[in-house]
Amino acid sequence: MQKQVSKIGVLTSGGDSPGMNAAIRAVVRTGLYYNLEVFGIMRGYMGMIDDDIVPMHSRSVANIIQRGGTILKSARCKEFYEPEGRKKAYENLRKHGIEGLVVIGGDGSFRGAQKFSTEYDIPCIGLPGTIDKDMAGTDFTIGFDTAVNTAVEAIDKIRDTADAHDRLFIIEVMGRDSGYIALHSGIATGAENVLIPEAKTNIEDLIVSLEDKQRRKKLVNIIVVAEGDEFGGAEEVAKVVRTRLPDMDTRVCILGHIQRGGSPSCMDRLVASRLGYAAVESLQEGRHNVMVGIVNNKLHYTPLDSAVKAKQKIDKEWLKILKILAS
Ligand code: ADP
Repeated sequence: MQKQVSKIGVLTSGGDSPGMNAAIRAVVRTGLYYNLEVFGIMRGYMGMIDDDIVPMHSRSVANIIQRGGTILKSARCKEFYEPEGRKKAYENLRKHGIEGLVVIGGDGSFRGAQKFSTEYDIPCIGLPGTIDKDMAGTDFTIGFDTAVNTAVEAIDKIRDTADAHDRLFIIEVMGRDSGYIALHSGIATGAENVLIPEAKTNIEDLIVSLEDKQRRKKLVNIIVVAEGDEFGGAEEVAKVVRTRLPDMDTRVCILGHIQRGGSPSCMDRLVASRLGYAAVESLQEGRHNVMVGIVNNKLHYTPLDSAVKAKQKIDKEWLKILKILAS
C-alpha cells in the first residue's frame, strides 16, 4: 500500500467502447467528492506525451453518462511503446503534480500502464473498457453489453428480411481475438451456427448441416461469425458455401463499427459507474497497478501483470446449447 494521492489523471485508450464516458464521469465525480484534483488526459497515452492534459470539474462531465464514444478521445500511441515516450509522459504528469492514474481501456492499454508503473512511481488503476469481454478478472467489461445488444438488434432485423426471401445470412460481428459478441448474439437471436476463434471451425460440418437443413426445407438460416475466426470471416465462409451449395441464396452482412457506438445500456452505465468509483477508492486506499473488475457481483482486484496475461475463457457449453436449440 502506498501514500494517498491528491491529484489524479484519467484517460481512455485503445479501442473505444460505449460506457467509457460514464466511467470518466464516475472517476471525476468520485475524485471531487474526496477533494482530489482530477485531470483529463486527451487521446490516451498521446495526451500524456503531448501534455494535452486538462483540469476536470463536476460540470466537465455533465450530460455524458448516456453518450457513446469518449469525451477524452482515444488513440493508439506508438511513442508510448518506447522508453523515451514514457519518460516524456512521466515528466508531463510531474509538471501537473499528477500522482495516480486511471486507465480505461483494453489489455493493450493495461500493458502500457503496467510498463509505465514499473518504471515510474505513479500508481495505475485499470478499468476494463472493451466491447470484447475477453479480460480475465471480471465478469463484465465496459461496453460489451451495449455492443452485443446492438448486434442482437441488427441480427433480428436481418432475420426478418432473410425470412421474407428464404435466405442464408452469414453475419460478421466484431471480435478479433474473442468470440463473446458472436456467441452471445448468436444464441440470443436463435442463430443456426456461430463460428468463433476459441473453437475450431469445421467447414465440412457446417456444409453437411446446411445440406441437412435444405433437405428438411429449413431455408432461413443465420450464421454468426466473429471477425477473428480462424477460417477467415464471413466472406471466406460465404465463398465455400456458394461453391458447395449453389442453390442456397447466400448473403453476407458485416456489422462493423456500429457495434462500438451508441448510447450505453443501463448495465454498461452501472458497471462503468461502479468501476469508476472503485478506481478512485482504490487510489485513496493506496492500491496500485491493479485492474478493478466485478466478479460474482463484488469488486475484484487483479494485478495488472496478471490481467494482461490471462484471457477470459469461453464456456464451450454454450456452443452445445446453441446446437441443441437451433436444430
Ligand atoms: P486496447 O487497450 O484496446 O487493447 P491497444 O492494444 O491498441 O488497445 O493499446 C493501446 C495503447 O496502449 C497502444 O497504442 C500503446 O500506446 C499502449 N500499449 C500497448 N501495449 C504496450 C506495451 N507493450 N508497451 C507500452 N505501451 C503499450
